[in-house]
Amino acid sequence: MGAITYHFTGRTVLVTGGSRGIGRSVVKQLAAAGAQVVFTYSRDRAAAESLLAETGKDGCSVSCIQTDFTDPGSIRHLLDVVSENGPLHGVVNNAGIIRDTPVYKMSDEQWNSVIQVNLTSMFAIIRGLIRPLGLSRGSVVNVSSVSGLAGASGQANYAASKAGVIGLTKALAKELGSLGIRVNAVAPGYIGTEMLNDIADRRKLALAKSIPLKRLGTPEEAAAAVLFLLSGEASYVNGSVLVVDGGLL
Ligand code: NDP
Repeated sequence: MGAITYHFTGRTVLVTGGSRGIGRSVVKQLAAAGAQVVFTYSRDRAAAESLLAETGKDGCSVSCIQTDFTDPGSIRHLLDVVSENGPLHGVVNNAGIIRDTPVYKMSDEQWNSVIQVNLTSMFAIIRGLIRPLGLSRGSVVNVSSVSGLAGASGQANYAASKAGVIGLTKALAKELGSLGIRVNAVAPGYIGTEMLNDIADRRKLALAKSIPLKRLGTPEEAAAAVLFLLSGEASYVNGSVLVVDGGLL
């Protein structure tokens, strides 16, 4: 894919869940555009290290912090570290999980963990970083999902969390706009990452056929939408939800 060149030189950006999938592509594209990137991972230290090694080769400025979004203390530590660095130009709230199951079988734990990781942690991160974001009139991009716009069977917890992300995005676009902070969301459709590992290949083929473009999206394609919204090119875009789904919805 031919990449548009954005300029993030000298800009510090936090990317949550940057070790794998869509977040990993966001980190790579930002680093290539000159940003100083801090990304988080939760358990997969090897994935985080391989990303540091990959981006380190190009002389980029990339670092990582282990953060578990099910643990408020871990989130507070992340906020302390990031706040110490001074002005923050961007936050990509990307980390997310699925715990799919029919609603009659869904446990409180399955509900609560998805809401906590996908939505509550996002609120805590934005709330905790308003000051450093305000100093640089920064930009926030929250990763939602088509599931949050259209719902999906077996995803009551996930769809509720991702619909919440859209509500959070739109409310904060209005509230933080006066500080010069833009808040937007990307709503991907089916993107080929490890998140889809539990879907059988046959089902993935059927899913792909149901998409007008007849294929799953790539992490790079989702990341490209994130970079656009984060960049100065989107300076008058605030409170928008950019759907990246090959026409699925
Ligand atoms: P992946 O599963 O590939 O990566 C998830 C990332 O989130 C990893 O970096 C992971 O770190 C991190 N993470 C997982 N659990 C936690 C936790 N408890 N605390 C902090 N970080 C955590 O996901 P994708 O790249 O596919 O998805 C990225 C975002 O895009 C998510 O918000 C997802 O909901 C959304 N999305 C994805 C779609 C898809 O089809 N793939 C479709 C629509 C939306 P670690 O590996 O260390 O646990």
